[in-house]
Amino acid sequence: METLIERLWHQTAADEVVQLLKSDANRGLDRFEVEARQRHFGVNAIPVRGGPGPLIRFLMQFHQPLLYILLTAAAITALLDEWVDASVIFAVVLVNAVIGYLQESKAAKALEALAKTTLTEARVIRSGETRNVPSTELVPGDVVLLQSGDKVPADLRLLRSRDLQVDESALTGESVPVEKKAIELGLETPLAERRNMAYASTLVTYGQGRGVVVATAAKTEVGRISELISLADVLETPLTRKIAKFSRVLLVVILLLAAVTFAVGVWRGQAKFEMFMAAVALAVGAIPEGLPAAVTITLAIGVARMARRRAIIRKLPAVETLGGTTVVCSDKTGTLTVNQMTVLEIWAAGQRLTASGSGYEPSGKIQVCGDEQAEVLSSAAVRHCLQAGLMCNDSQLVCSESGWKVQGDPTEGALIAVAGKAGLDAKQLDTQSPRLDTIPFESQYQYMATLHENAANHTRHLYVKGAVEVLLSKCPRAMTATGETCPLDVAVVHQQVEAMAAEGLRVLAFAGKPLPPATHDISHGDVGDLVFYGLQGMIDPPRPEAVAAIKACQTAGIRVKMITGDHAKTAQAIAQQLGLDGTRQSDEHAPIVKTAHDLAGTSDQQLIEVADRVAVFARATPELKLRLVRALQANGHIVAMTGDGVNDAPALKQADIGVAMGIGGTEVAKEAADMVLTDDNFASIEAAVEEGRGVFDNLTKFIVWTLPTNMGEGFVILAAIFVGVALPILPVQILWINMTTAVLLGLMLAFEPKEDDIMTRPPRDPHAPILTGELIGRIVLVSLVMLVGAFGSFEWAIGQGYSEVVARTVSVNVFVMVELFYLFNCRSLTKSMFAIGVFSNRWIGLGVATMLVLQMAFTYSPIMNRIFHSAPIGWDAWWRILLTGLATYMIVGFEKWLRRSNYWNSSVAKVHLGESDEGTTRS
Ligand code: ADP
Ligand code: MG
Repeated sequence: METLIERLWHQTAADEVVQLLKSDANRGLDRFEVEARQRHFGVNAIPVRGGPGPLIRFLMQFHQPLLYILLTAAAITALLDEWVDASVIFAVVLVNAVIGYLQESKAAKALEALAKTTLTEARVIRSGETRNVPSTELVPGDVVLLQSGDKVPADLRLLRSRDLQVDESALTGESVPVEKKAIELGLETPLAERRNMAYASTLVTYGQGRGVVVATAAKTEVGRISELISLADVLETPLTRKIAKFSRVLLVVILLLAAVTFAVGVWRGQAKFEMFMAAVALAVGAIPEGLPAAVTITLAIGVARMARRRAIIRKLPAVETLGGTTVVCSDKTGTLTVNQMTVLEIWAAGQRLTASGSGYEPSGKIQVCGDEQAEVLSSAAVRHCLQAGLMCNDSQLVCSESGWKVQGDPTEGALIAVAGKAGLDAKQLDTQSPRLDTIPFESQYQYMATLHENAANHTRHLYVKGAVEVLLSKCPRAMTATGETCPLDVAVVHQQVEAMAAEGLRVLAFAGKPLPPATHDISHGDVGDLVFYGLQGMIDPPRPEAVAAIKACQTAGIRVKMITGDHAKTAQAIAQQLGLDGTRQSDEHAPIVKTAHDLAGTSDQQLIEVADRVAVFARATPELKLRLVRALQANGHIVAMTGDGVNDAPALKQADIGVAMGIGGTEVAKEAADMVLTDDNFASIEAAVEEGRGVFDNLTKFIVWTLPTNMGEGFVILAAIFVGVALPILPVQILWINMTTAVLLGLMLAFEPKEDDIMTRPPRDPHAPILTGELIGRIVLVSLVMLVGAFGSFEWAIGQGYSEVVARTVSVNVFVMVELFYLFNCRSLTKSMFAIGVFSNRWIGLGVATMLVLQMAFTYSPIMNRIFHSAPIGWDAWWRILLTGLATYMIVGFEKWLRRSNYWNSSVAKVHLGESDEGTTRS
């Protein structure tokens, strides 16, 4: 078997391939054989390899400008025989690298774990039965069925195909889909032209196929070339890139400043060593080295929080973008509705029937309206209508402990259930007239068709089910109750459809016709000149949680639009039940609905206005989705768009947040999406937006908290040099402050719970910088407080006759204490700590307590005193230090209070403006 795997399968005949692999094209492998092969070949997953190993990743932590500076400083310090200082710097560099390594691994692990939760499934034939299995369980010899939307689970030699097209960009980089056919090819055919093979990781964009697995896991073509995407790529987002760029600019500025400081000091006649240390202190202090790591960690925490709320982030930048979302375009079926369909009404040959019972249990009663005794199936039209629903159907109902469930499409499940209520049996019909061929449902065509052969007399029959408008245009005639045909009165049917749709029913039409006995397969061309059988209307109630989520979005200034393939009237009725309205004027009216047909003639320019105004788009096509995303984006919106089908991929890619359905979505849609919902529920999108806003808040809080320390330290050093006094803090002390406070204080802000008003404020302007003028003002204010506090206490201590060592210990404690008190200011950017709850973040308390213990050690433990050039200080110093901290809290609190009253004024002004704005558009 092992040697077979290395064969060139494309040049072998299909039968021979199956034979060599000891499989069976129709029955697949035997169950026991599968188990044996699984033991032999192992799990079908591409092993991750090629990425840098742990050692390299650890060493990469040293590849940072700041660490170069530190290492140089350490080396020079060592040359000057200052061994203690040199080793402290070395130790800090090491600790820094370890922390960086751990953080990075943790973030990467979290993302990796998420990637695994989106498992793909494959449809295989084993022991003659078709079933879905995780694609990891495939073995060579398995017979796999492919259909549009699937990800090819292993390397397959095709046995059969029907209009099969595959996007091989994952393998060849070529994104135009390739046609595949089960033909024979010559030996020399290059990989990209092997049309009889379907390779693992490529995507089926059209058609169907059947193939036998020839290679799994590392033996597949993609397995051979697979390389781990580098960690840096995975963890990068626009924001981290912006911050990295900002840091690089800052680095140059600070290095220049350090050089100037050194030159000025030396020119003034100060000792070279002192000045060198001052320059190093400046560089070490002023560079916000912890920033990039903190951003990544905050984003990773956001990813984990979103996953807990059933939104799996596939691309890290989405975490940032989510918070700025201004429009959510959502599917109806399954996302806004429960996707539990039950047929309530049937209409055939002018007769209206109602079905009782609920869910998928095929028991209940079908009654002719107005005549309770009538035999339902005595009408040929009704029987054909139900039969078409049952036979033109790819789903099954199964009875489990928790009741009847549908395997497949809920729409189809409802059709099986109602046919069961009328006494029709799928198994029996299937033996009577087995299916020969299928045209699967695609949202583009909006119908499904099947070809059946009557086993007794070998006549052929075509059954079609689909959207009313599409089918009616193909039905010149209709079936009567007695089984004859008569010309179809389209107007009457439409009237009936409107009536059913107005109640929120999803209406499907059913049709069919006999075909010549020689027919073996069908194509779209055969679906015409049909006989109309009837209509079936099913309910799919709105999800209660979607109603609440829509309201939450509206309060948060996020527009919600429903985009559905369903009938306009159905969409409108459901939208109204959901409380959806995109038009601010139409509170009492039903939401405006436009169909793809209505919009076919509108130019892209006109669509921009329509997209803004209209809340519901019905009979939508994938192209319309794409146009709508573009139109909304042209209006400056940040658009989240859901999708599940193959054809939705372009719209998902175009959207700022492409959202795919985890349960009902195709692999193609998931691959194109930024986010996957594990429960297909609209409420999860709202939850993710909420988390996204929280993440952005916490990031901003961290930045606003951390920058004053860097600025303050820089100011203190510069001031000392220019005034010409001893340094109030030494480089090793700056390292101590920055390392400990970043981890024990700053990082705790990432755990800050979301603020109450997070979903009542308007979305963030995507083009606004992270730091507004206000926040920059606050940062400068706090750094000035640090300068005055630290420099002042140093001078005070010297004035009291304390040694420089004691005076420096006082300054260090001032820095830490100011940061500590200021941390409480930063728990909210606008509100006071008391408004958000003093104890709502346990982590803060823990961090602060640990920080205080460390500070005691720094001040009083002899070892720390030796290492960090610190010394015990007395109560006279402590109350000054505490007072400085408290003063910071009060000053910033006051500043926030001022802003709040101002902020309030300006937002009132904004509301006024907005209203008058509306007034003018209305008049
Ligand atoms: P949505 O998911 O937005 O409600 P779909 O694209 O699934 O809309 O369906 C659009 C229309 O296509 C439906 O109104 C129905 O008429 C028809 N349809 C849906 N599912 C099927 C199916 N499995 N077979 C045939 N027709 C279908
Ligand atoms: Mg659908």
